[in-house]
Amino acid sequence: MTTMVSDFERAMRKREPREEDLIRGATGDWEIILGLEVHAQVTSQAKLFSASSTKFGAEQNSQVSFVDAAMPGMLPVINRYCVEQAVRTGLGLKAQINLRSVFDRKNYFYPDLPQGYQISQFKQPIVGEGEVVLDMPDGRTVVVGIERLHLEQDAGKSLHDQHPSMSFVDLNRSGVALMEIVSKPDMRSAEEARAYVTKLRTILRYLGTCDGNMEEGSLRADVNVSVRKAGTPLGTRCEIKNVNSIRFIGQAIEYEARRQIDILEDGGAIVQETRLFDPKTGETRSMRSKEEAHDYRYFPDPDLLPLVLKQDEVDVIRASLPELPDEKKARLISAYGLSAYDATVLIGESARADFFEAVAKGRDAKLVANWVTGDFFAALNREGHSIEQSPVTAKQLGELLDLISDGTISGRIAKQIFDSMYKTGRDPSKIVEEEGLRQVTDFGAIEAAIDAVIAANPDKVEQTKVKPQLAGWFVGQVMKSTSGKANPQVVNEILARKLGLSSDG
Ligand code: MN
Repeated sequence: MTTMVSDFERAMRKREPREEDLIRGATGDWEIILGLEVHAQVTSQAKLFSASSTKFGAEQNSQVSFVDAAMPGMLPVINRYCVEQAVRTGLGLKAQINLRSVFDRKNYFYPDLPQGYQISQFKQPIVGEGEVVLDMPDGRTVVVGIERLHLEQDAGKSLHDQHPSMSFVDLNRSGVALMEIVSKPDMRSAEEARAYVTKLRTILRYLGTCDGNMEEGSLRADVNVSVRKAGTPLGTRCEIKNVNSIRFIGQAIEYEARRQIDILEDGGAIVQETRLFDPKTGETRSMRSKEEAHDYRYFPDPDLLPLVLKQDEVDVIRASLPELPDEKKARLISAYGLSAYDATVLIGESARADFFEAVAKGRDAKLVANWVTGDFFAALNREGHSIEQSPVTAKQLGELLDLISDGTISGRIAKQIFDSMYKTGRDPSKIVEEEGLRQVTDFGAIEAAIDAVIAANPDKVEQTKVKPQLAGWFVGQVMKSTSGKANPQVVNEILARKLGLSSDG
């Protein structure tokens, strides 16, 4: 429990409930109120207060200094790079940077915490209020407030599956720098919570301050869930701890909201507690109640001076920020005339947007966006490839689109060539030559193909004179007899003339 927002402040944050977000209960409609606390591991080679490596997957207890093991007399030394990464993240979240912040001891006893306390920040975090803008699939924009971001150290890990009667402890993670990013209770559906974590991860990756790898535990979320009848005061919330996938976040919220509604509709009351989500059953279960909650007895860590930054230092970091997702989206829309939807899809990863821009240079941006977000992304997803692993380069895709634009190949054949490029990594022009896929624009050849189809189908010709829409059938036949290589525009023109139809009709 680290959120600093009082229930009164929460109640002050008004947002009209949307019909689509309400959950139907036996006694009426319910609104879900969600706030997230995300722990993001700082991308740094060394730990927050020691020089030990943070490399993932190393041998157990091989990356543990005397500081990380809390040997008597050891003193923490702050890692400047981790501090800069936190400031960078704060700036990326358009947040207040606090030039003076304080490290506190958060006291609790657990086998994986050799110090007996976690060094964290409580009353004076390094980053204050900011915001994350969500682009929802239906075109809505939702602004989620950030309450704070503070720096803290991670604990070690208890291993319960190594010995029949004992638990072991791995301290490799002990002391690794985390940013705890606390949102305001501004989300109203599982979909919004998923969109929030997705967008936050995108921002962190653009900034390079957290790799966002949820499978390795670099990003994990505690989800605060409560429900209320629309327009009534906030309900009691439960916190679901350490959910480590975006899909699970959605599932945990949906299960938990329904559980709370069922209790309330049966006349019961929600007990404030910490719960765990079990991905196997899709359910949440109680971990500890408020009565069992820790009293952390926070106090400033006497081994560490207050962390004081100069405005100049913050300004230098600000000047080094990359173009962030929201700015990139706005630029893709204004510079290339893309739809908001295409732009949103492209900015999901900066490498995707870069690939688009490399192809779009000097070409029809709309055509490029269709190909990149369509066939290209579909192939990446199908093969589980990242952009970096793509067998098709931006240059090659650009060449393929040039072959369409200059009439060498039809759009239909281009899809076939693209599949072949993706399988073999060959250049499109090479595939066109080797497989004889050049589009037939030769009027004589196309006319001959049309004549053959007309001669073989006199009944269809008669029907088409009555019902001109049937001309499409002839186009299909001609494309078939030319293996898709006939230029469709030429086919349409000649066909319309032969069948006595107006060519633009
Ligand atoms: Mn924490």
